[in-house]
Amino acid sequence: MKILPLINNFIIPRVNISNNQYDYSEQRLSLLKHSEADTFQKSIPFSGRTEVINPSRAPLEKLYKHNLTCLCCGRVMIDPKKINQLQESGVLKQNSEVALKYLEKYRNNMHSVEQEVFDILKEQSKLYPYLNIQQILNIIKPEYEKPLILTQFGIFKMIQKACENMDPKIKREVDDLIEEEKQLILAGNNQFRRKRFVRKFEQIFDDSSNSAVKEHLIRLANKLPTAYEDKNAFIIKYSSYPSEAIGIRLLSYSMCTIEHVLPKNRNGENHIFNYIPECMRCNSFRQDRRMIQQLEEHPEMFSNAQILLDRLIDFANKGKLSKLYIINIQKRVKEESEGLLDLDISKLTVSEKIRRQYFSSPETNATNSQPHTSRAENSAPDRRKKTKKEIKRERIKEQHKRKNLVRKDNNRIKK
Ligand SMILES: [Zn+2]
Repeated sequence: MKILPLINNFIIPRVNISNNQYDYSEQRLSLLKHSEADTFQKSIPFSGRTEVINPSRAPLEKLYKHNLTCLCCGRVMIDPKKINQLQESGVLKQNSEVALKYLEKYRNNMHSVEQEVFDILKEQSKLYPYLNIQQILNIIKPEYEKPLILTQFGIFKMIQKACENMDPKIKREVDDLIEEEKQLILAGNNQFRRKRFVRKFEQIFDDSSNSAVKEHLIRLANKLPTAYEDKNAFIIKYSSYPSEAIGIRLLSYSMCTIEHVLPKNRNGENHIFNYIPECMRCNSFRQDRRMIQQLEEHPEMFSNAQILLDRLIDFANKGKLSKLYIINIQKRVKEESEGLLDLDISKLTVSEKIRRQYFSSPETNATNSQPHTSRAENSAPDRRKKTKKEIKRERIKEQHKRKNLVRKDNNRIKK
């Protein structure tokens, strides 16, 4: 996802931000009611008999206020409503002393670059309490622009060195592209955009037969700092944005959003059984890639996903979320991670009816995803049969049998 449309969401038209971009939930809901394309088809068929299932994202959105943690990074996410309220209050437009006081409540929710920028702003605000955030960024900009340019130009040098022995035509194209970008950087406000550069750069190597060199060069190009991961790049880029947009940007990447477990471009449905909460940053970084790729890049997801699911199970056990959602999302995550992310849902308490319906197959019984109750109920009857009266009765029967046999044998001998 691009940052600009995100910022525009807050600043240009006033829209609901409970979605990644514009909120189309009303349209989506009506689609779900009438379109087969939007209903859940894979995994467990939805019968609608055991529980009434709301096909929208609303049941998950209701939980946003409970400080859910991100599926991937594990950060405590911010309820989009809180960001809306902050924007509506207008405090972010005010002087930095006021704006930062409100932003500080969410410092622990922020990602590391945003935290760094927040801390810099807070420090500077002591010197300029009556300036707004944008004015402060513009004062400190030169200090942060210098190291950013040094890094950018250093990476350009590495790219040009790696291209030294390449086809002269390619080498010239790379040099021209880099020169063009350098001019943009030096023109002020550091208009360099990594995504744009990498795209143009890749085009130069489209026909290149040496894929190893091409990959190495693209890896180098991807090291160019961006506002996502570098405080210098953040400060330079956002120094031209209004204070309110900067304040919102510090929070928005920690905002709770809905992730499609099976990506939309792989026919992932707009259905609750395909939705899981994830922070805006992790959601936008994953894009339409498979969950297994996300896991490879973020192995911390193995534990973070379980923390989130345990929390959701807790809500399901309290009746605040569908239990079938837990069962289905566990399956879906497992499928999408090719079996790697096999989340434990044994803390989910389920009725006998659900247990029989969803946990009767040998496959599910063998996994750790079997709810507690069913495990207990499965093993208990066998143990009971062997105890007390039944065992006693069996013993007596055995004794009778033996006595009869002995009697028959004695009679035979007598005969
Ligand atoms: Zn995250």
